[in-house]
Amino acid sequence: MKPDTLIIVVGAGIAGPTLGMALQQAGFQPTLYESSAETAEGIGAFLTLSTNGIQALRVIRADLPVLKRGFATPELTLRSHTGKFLGKTSTGTPLPDGTSSHTLKRADLYEALYQEALRRGVRFVHGKHLVDATETPEGVTAHFSDGSTATGDLLIGSDGVHSVLRSVIDLHAPRPTYSGLLTTGGYVQNVKVDVPVGSYEMIYGQKGFFGYAPAPNGEVWWFANVPWPREPARGEVECLGSEHWKQHLLQLHAKDQGPILDVLHHTDHLMTMKAIHMLPHLPHWQKGRMLVIGDAAHAPSPSSGQGAALAIEDAVVLAQCLRDAETAEQAFALFEKTRRQRIERIIRWAARINNSKAAGPLGSWFRDLLMPTAMKWLEKSDSQRFIFDHQIHWDTRMNPTV
Ligand SMILES: Cc1cc2nc3c(=O)[nH]c(=O)nc-3n(C[C@H](O)[C@H](O)[C@H](O)COP(=O)(O)OP(=O)(O)OC[C@H]3O[C@@H](n4cnc5c(N)ncnc54)[C@H](O)[C@@H]3O)c2cc1C
Repeated sequence: MKPDTLIIVVGAGIAGPTLGMALQQAGFQPTLYESSAETAEGIGAFLTLSTNGIQALRVIRADLPVLKRGFATPELTLRSHTGKFLGKTSTGTPLPDGTSSHTLKRADLYEALYQEALRRGVRFVHGKHLVDATETPEGVTAHFSDGSTATGDLLIGSDGVHSVLRSVIDLHAPRPTYSGLLTTGGYVQNVKVDVPVGSYEMIYGQKGFFGYAPAPNGEVWWFANVPWPREPARGEVECLGSEHWKQHLLQLHAKDQGPILDVLHHTDHLMTMKAIHMLPHLPHWQKGRMLVIGDAAHAPSPSSGQGAALAIEDAVVLAQCLRDAETAEQAFALFEKTRRQRIERIIRWAARINNSKAAGPLGSWFRDLLMPTAMKWLEKSDSQRFIFDHQIHWDTRMNPTV
């Protein structure tokens, strides 16, 4: 498409700034509109950016600012509530220079991508919350909650799992589904754990799932998934506060082996408890001049460790499609053809992990019995390599007619 195509991007979390940089590298000058006053909220939690996401950032030379903010976590160990070793697995195939998956705070990932995009001259407008979008034969207009508008040739929604643009594209788009789990976490000093920096430890507790990783600065970063069968109403679990959830977690993990109780006791303040939502299948990613990417189009369970990586891959591939296609219709079709199958395969894989976290007593018994064999098979079979070995070849022109 022509470099003077006016591209409006709504949502500057992870996919947004990445798309801004990728579009710039493809010759476009996009403008990003973000509802938060500064960088995006996201604040609090941490995540692991796996090597496929790092490779995608490398394509637009934005990997180093991100890697600087995190630490390598190449593998994770799974244990049962009795401390039994269930297996070890890689968090991603190392890149040719040895770089492995990195763990970092979500807020730092946002900030690193945002600052790098700013440094490159990508335009951001803050305090703009999309409420609607309208399309004419000449263009598309984004409407914001403050009454202002922005008009361009294309409107891309990277506005996250509760996307507004998604429902503009399809009024009947499925809502994100509740995963059956709540999540919280924290950062704690002065707790000794018997795990080296670089290793992630995950524990299938009797009544909840717990993960932790020692960071190079001496902190232990942890998260917990709490099975919660009924979808909570908005604000219902958030309002209960840190001390309530700390006590709840202490009860859930009372009989579990490992450092969980110690970590919890030493945590002053837990991150706000939140329900985990997923968006496994969205029939329509696009309509006319509008398209959604990242969590707005597909949100795997956080158990996949792939949401951010896929959002980044989407952004880079979309810029490539827009660069190589003649029309928006071609570009969007090419994008969907290139991305949908991979993403939905990863989402199905992640859903299975999610189910294992919310298993009942019998299910847990079978899981702990069978998992060591399953994990060994997994390691040998390379069945997860399709996730991590994915490569984006920026210099190869895409064929929009295929
Ligand atoms: C607890 C938890 C743990 C996770 N762990 C991992 C992990 O280990 N590895 C991994 O890869 N992924 C992980 N993820 C998933 C990952 O965080 C998301 O997949 C990723 O943030 C998606 O990026 P995005 O840019 O699509 O959406 P977001 O990061 O959510 O960004 C959306 C942006 O749009 C803005 N916005 C929203 N609505 C509007 C609007 N109407 N108008 C304007 N702007 C708007 C928001 O303010 C935000 O800045 C985890 C998620 C959670 C919740």
